[in-house]
Amino acid sequence: MADIPKDWYEHALTVDVKKDINSNERIKSISKPYYKSFVRFAARQRINYVNDIEAEWSEYYEKYIKNRLSDIDIDSWKRLSHQVLERDHYTCFYCDQTGGILEVDHMTPVSRGGESTLDNLVTACRHCNRQKRDKTVAEYLKWKDEHE
Ligand SMILES: [Zn+2]
Repeated sequence: MADIPKDWYEHALTVDVKKDINSNERIKSISKPYYKSFVRFAARQRINYVNDIEAEWSEYYEKYIKNRLSDIDIDSWKRLSHQVLERDHYTCFYCDQTGGILEVDHMTPVSRGGESTLDNLVTACRHCNRQKRDKTVAEYLKWKDEHE
């Protein structure tokens, strides 16, 4: 199984802690002014319960991630990537950079139902691909507008 991504881990802890706080009226009212720092404190305390998080992660992984990663095997992915790079003339779809470190991006991210098919794949330079992450193309272009 894949390692637990740090972001997911922290996020899961925080969500968990917030749920607990909100379901307890007494703690909820007392902690109100200190809500944010209490959530951080409680989440840090929970790092001790690594086993619980591992169980949650493994459930999450089985439910939401495993199938998506295996929608295509590694050899097909290599072939497909090569086709995409050739088709796009080794040019980044987002910034027009040619050459350099190029990757293949899912325009509609896998996490949002996008598939590993030619019409959903484009060449992206590493810089753009890191910025895009799991945004859709429209969301990314808007983000680029606001940040550059
Ligand atoms: Zn680019």
